[in-house]
Parts: sequence; C-alpha cells; structure tokens
Amino acid sequence: CMIELTGEKIMVEPHVLVFPFPLQGHVTTMLRLADAISNAGLRLTFLNTDYNHALLDRFSASHHRLSRRPRFRFISIPDGLPEDNPRTMRNFVELEESLRTRSLEFYKKVLRDDGDGWPPVSCVLVDGLMPFAMDAAQELGIPAIVFRTISGACIWAYLCIPRLVEAAEFPFPEKADWDDPINCVPGMEGYLRRRDLPGFFRHTSAAGEKLIRIVGDVTADSLRARGGIILNTSEHLEGPILSHIRSLFPLTYAVGPLHALSASVTSFSASGSLWAEDRSAILWLDAQPDRSVVYVSFGSIAELSTAQFLEFWHGFVDSGHRFLWVLRPGLVAGWERAPPEVDRVKMVSWVPQEEVLRHRAVGCFLTHCGWNSTLESLVAGIPMVCWPLLADQQINSRLVGEVWRVGIDMKDIYSREAVERAVKAAMEGETAEALRRAAAEMAVEVGRSVEDGGCARLEFEKLIRDISALGS
Ligand code: UDP
Repeated sequence: CMIELTGEKIMVEPHVLVFPFPLQGHVTTMLRLADAISNAGLRLTFLNTDYNHALLDRFSASHHRLSRRPRFRFISIPDGLPEDNPRTMRNFVELEESLRTRSLEFYKKVLRDDGDGWPPVSCVLVDGLMPFAMDAAQELGIPAIVFRTISGACIWAYLCIPRLVEAAEFPFPEKADWDDPINCVPGMEGYLRRRDLPGFFRHTSAAGEKLIRIVGDVTADSLRARGGIILNTSEHLEGPILSHIRSLFPLTYAVGPLHALSASVTSFSASGSLWAEDRSAILWLDAQPDRSVVYVSFGSIAELSTAQFLEFWHGFVDSGHRFLWVLRPGLVAGWERAPPEVDRVKMVSWVPQEEVLRHRAVGCFLTHCGWNSTLESLVAGIPMVCWPLLADQQINSRLVGEVWRVGIDMKDIYSREAVERAVKAAMEGETAEALRRAAAEMAVEVGRSVEDGGCARLEFEKLIRDISALGS
C-alpha cells in the first residue's frame, strides 16, 4: 500500500495481523491461513494469548518452523484469566468476556505500534467470534477481514435465524417432527431437516434461545468488516450456499480446505497443536493391514456421557474391527476408570490427525464432524461415520451423508447395535465400496481446487491482492 505525504508518495509495506479466538480448532486453522499468507510474501504478525503461546512453544513443531521465517512473527498478550483457570469451550463466555475487556488494551497497543520496528499493521484478520477486535481495529482506521472456522452451511443457518423466527421454525414448534424438511428458507430446502440445523437450535430453554440469538448476532456483526469475510470452504464443496452467503457478504473469500491450500503453496501444513501428540499411534498403525482400522475422534471440545462412551465401546468391540481411538482427557465427563484393554482397540490421548488420516491402515473415520476434521477426512479421501454433538457438527454431518455422500450420518443414535451396524457398513461390503469410491473422487477434486487454477487457489490469490491493496 502507499501513503501520500505532501505530494510525495512513499511505499508502506503491507502488514497483516492475524488474531484467532484462543481455542484449539481456531488457532490451528488460522495458523494455516497465516502460513499461506506469509508464504505469499506479506509481512505477518500472529497474535496469541500468552497461555496458548506457551503451549505452542512446547508442542507445535510448525510453530518453531514458522518462527524462523524472516517476515513472520508471533506476539502474545494476556487473556486476562488466572493461570490455573480452564480454557475450554465450557468457559467460552468467561474467556470471551475476559478477552473483550482485559485483553483489549494490549491488542490495541500492538495495533498502534508495539515498538518492535515493524511497519504499522495495514490489515487485521480477526476471528469472527470477536467482533470487538474487528471494531477496535476499524476505529483505528485499520480495515478488518473476518475469518470463520465453521462451514458455509452453518454460517448461512446463523444468518437465517431472523427468517426462521419469522417462519415460526425457531424455536422449534411444540411436538415438531425433527425429520421434517426445512423448506421455508432459501438455501436449506432439499437437504436440511430440523434435526440437521446447528446444535444450538435444539435448546428450548430461555438461556438456549438467548445463546442462539447471540450466535446469530455475532455472525451478522461480520457484515461490518470492511475487508469482507474468509471461509474455510470452497466453491467446489459449498457452491450453492456460497452464492446465498454472497447475497449478504459480496466480499466472501472461499479459500478452503486451508490445510490443503497451505500444504499446496508452502509444502507443509502448520498444525498448531496445543497438546502433546502420541506418536505410538503411528507405530501401531504401521503394524496393521491396509484399510483395516477405524480411526475415532470427537475433537478437542466435545464431551461424552459414560453411557454414550460405553455404547460406543461395545459397538466397536462387537463389530470385530480394529480401532484407534482418541480419548482426550475430559472427553468422558466424570469418568476416571481406565477403559478395559482389548487387543484390537488402541487408545491414545492425542494424535497427529492429518498423518493418521493419510495412513494406509485407516479405512474409515468415526468423527464428531467438527469442520476441521470433516475437511481433513475429505482431503485424505477417507469415508466417515458421523456422530455430531453440537454447534455446526449437525449440519456438517448432513453435508457428508446427504450432499457429498462420502459417509454415514448416524446423528442422535448411539446404541451399541447402531454403532456396530454403521461401522460394518462403512468397512465391509457394497456400501463401504461405494463410500470409498466417492471419498476417493472427492479427494481428487478437492486436491485440484487448491492447486494452480483451482477455485480455492484463485480466491486465495484474489485475497492476497486485496490485502496488499487495503489501506492504500
Ligand atoms: N486433532 C488432532 N489430534 C487429535 C484429535 C484432533 O490434531 O487427536 C485436531 C484435528 O486434526 C482438527 C482439530 O483437532 O484439526 C479439531 O478440530 P475440529 O474442527 O474437527 O473439531 P473441534 O475440536 O473444534 O470440535
């Protein structure tokens, strides 16, 4: 960008500041985006909280690799919470409030000039969960672009909350059949049932209704971003939904899947893990036959009840297949006992997931359908068995099962018999064969979309051009 001083034009180097909401899925994805942007030659500051920065220092190899880039730097600011305070989805409200109030001044100081000799920030790229960070930048005259980590379909559902209320679809009518299709909102007809709307729609309490309105308002707040919105999806994956989103956000950059895009432009994909990865999982997979293992993970946030855990456990054992199961601490609420040892089931606390999904021994992925996991499975060409729990997961699993047809959506069912049936269908016989073919074709198409001339790559190139021009 250029600044004019008394008739004389001087060049000011573009400098992008990337600020993720400090939870695992957000840090990882925005690190991938930052990696790709910095690789395009732009100066980049990645803003972490002190707490997460210390974890990245310990556990993320990509973080060390990025730190060595000359035009890339990490800066961290306090999140305002005591050291021993949990920082999980359960504490979302507390964490968000603390960032909005106690971290804001630190953030503004970085925006003004942190005194490190870097050029002023010319554009911020902020997580859409923090409209205050967008507003603070724009008040200082710095244009903001918003980034959302969720699917386009979920963004559209949040933007349509007023229409759903108007059509008396939300709150769900009493005694509503959750299998009824939603036909009253453009972009939802034909594939979405009430059951597939994002998890927040299911809350019937006043607090739940308040929550869904907050989610909707936060999404609508992104309309104030002068630089537009970036989504981790692509024309290929969600073309029809993107055209609906663009009717409200004309400047929407669909640059996903970001881990594939960043791997394609930089030959490595920044993982940003905040937890230690157990590599014994890979050694165990090395010893298993091709496509014989069901990889199981419910992501970084979800919690299972003991009853749910046990039904999955029995379903897995009864299916006769091999399992690699990520049992993250805190996954099974309040359950201290170690699960029984079974030869065919390997349990680990955290794995390098993309590497696991690329492993020849993995035959399918039983997933909660977090958007990152869904995209990682698509890119690896692995069929999914979907068991969504909350937020955008319900809508993502519908895309997997009904729109792309690369998996089995078993939402809302968790009996051991249903688990066994779904696993067998995804691993054996004709259904498994069809899913495998569809997943392999999808992987080829998604791979093309991030290569030269592909739809996501072209939008990324436009994003780089537009960021470079912002502020000029
Ligand atoms: N993940 C990982 N190791 C694991 C389990 C998950 O690295 O053992 C990563 C996974 O690759 C993904 C992220 O954690 O990038 C989870 O994000 P997602 O959006 O799927 O779900 P969330 O955790 O936000 O519910």
